[in-house]
Amino acid sequence: MMSGSEPGGAGGRPQQGAGREEFERLVSADADGIEEQRIEAALRPKKLDDFVGQERVREQLSLVLHSALRRGRTPDHVLLSGGPGLGKTTLAMIIAAELGQPLRISSGPAIERAGDLAAVLSTLAEGEVLFLDEIHGATTRAGMLPGPLRDRFGFVAHMDFYEPAELEVIVRRSAKLLDVEIADDAAAEVAGRSRGTPRIANRLLRRVRDYAEVRADGVITKESARAALALYEVDERGLDRLDRSVLESLMRKFGGGPVGLSTLAVSVGEEPETVEVVAEPFLVRQGLLARTPRGRVATAAAWAHLGLAQPPTAPLAGTLFEVDEDAGRPE
Ligand code: ADP
Repeated sequence: MMSGSEPGGAGGRPQQGAGREEFERLVSADADGIEEQRIEAALRPKKLDDFVGQERVREQLSLVLHSALRRGRTPDHVLLSGGPGLGKTTLAMIIAAELGQPLRISSGPAIERAGDLAAVLSTLAEGEVLFLDEIHGATTRAGMLPGPLRDRFGFVAHMDFYEPAELEVIVRRSAKLLDVEIADDAAAEVAGRSRGTPRIANRLLRRVRDYAEVRADGVITKESARAALALYEVDERGLDRLDRSVLESLMRKFGGGPVGLSTLAVSVGEEPETVEVVAEPFLVRQGLLARTPRGRVATAAAWAHLGLAQPPTAPLAGTLFEVDEDAGRPE
């Protein structure tokens, strides 16, 4: 089976350059080093039934696996796509576990050279499940799998961002595993700021837990969750300091735009790549910022979110420019 993330999916870190402290972002969807991977391993659901959300993918996969098991055959090749932190690796592990087979993990970048993949394949045992992560890294255009390769997969699924209610379940489940008490409204508070991404939900939960242990009596209440997230500068919509400074600059210094990417980047003291790759994808997804042919534009929702009055001269994204239909409307 294979998985691939879309570039800029949930806001990660740029490949190189622009190495600033911002990349230790609490709201990055990428796994943050060995320690986080270790903690994540403990939080991963082990069975398909424990995997929260992604209902259709789960049901379809369940059919594929069970019919393969019933026939005593190996299941079709599986292709999972979707942004980082949405559960692709977790599903790979579940697939192997449900089939009662060991799992081998490799990745697109690791099999880039001719012969690399052959070396992996030739050492696979019968029935062993091979998970190739970041398979888009082995293709010519990032994020694009050539048709003939795609066609090899009998099962193709796209993992979407999670609904707040699903993330809430994940937060409560993780809290139980971390042995920390969390109030339901506190779980909702964490879920709502997690950018639709389980990895971020789990990370915010750990920070909130730390706060509750040190400043409160260890129980995560709505108040302590809010205070912790305010301390870490993650707001109600999951925007962090970088996201907000981009929006604020766009509005305060450029009247809401349109303004070019490099000008905007200079105004927040960042590299253009950082603004474009790290901050913008989520802002666009949230309908707070629009990328237009003439430059970046703050939407009405952005003015409302930062509590700023939209001046009459501000461009109305969604009417003057080709943008998302909903981009200009507050939620
Ligand atoms: P990906 O491979 O897509 O980057 P992972 O599978 O590594 O994402 O998931 C990141 C973290 O989020 C893991 O700790 C995992 O336990 C958690 N997670 C992801 N999806 C779910 C889910 N559906 N239910 C519960 N936890 C999840």
